[in-house]
Amino acid sequence: MTTDCPFCDLAASRVFLRTPDVIGLWDGYPVSLGHSLLVPVRHVANWFDATARERAALVDAIDEAKLRIDASHHPDGYNIGINCGAAAGQTVFHLHIHLIPRYDHDVPDPRGGVRHVIPKKANYLTGAAGSTPDTNGELLNE
Ligand SMILES: [Zn+2]
Repeated sequence: MTTDCPFCDLAASRVFLRTPDVIGLWDGYPVSLGHSLLVPVRHVANWFDATARERAALVDAIDEAKLRIDASHHPDGYNIGINCGAAAGQTVFHLHIHLIPRYDHDVPDPRGGVRHVIPKKANYLTGAAGSTPDTNGELLNE
């Protein structure tokens, strides 16, 4: 535990799931209704620093959180994501899995999903700039 970590010092009102290894909480800045985070109880920076037991517990918790979100919000789909490192957009360095409920028509064209971490290359189906082959002639999209 670190004293300046928001996931090591959680308000009880944000917690909806607690197991010996995992805490499920509502995201403080939700991108959709029901956006939740799954974090290991132990302060660990990212997925690659977690133990096999912690990883297994986190994956199990995804299913548990989904059941709860399904019951309360009835989403049409989900995105699941982990930011590992500042270059990948991580800003809180306590491992957390984003479980983001998605709803039909919540964006104009959701195709590409988590690929939107690189917006210009996200939707290779549109033929938009940045989704074309690179200079080596290889597709950059997959
Ligand atoms: Zn922490």
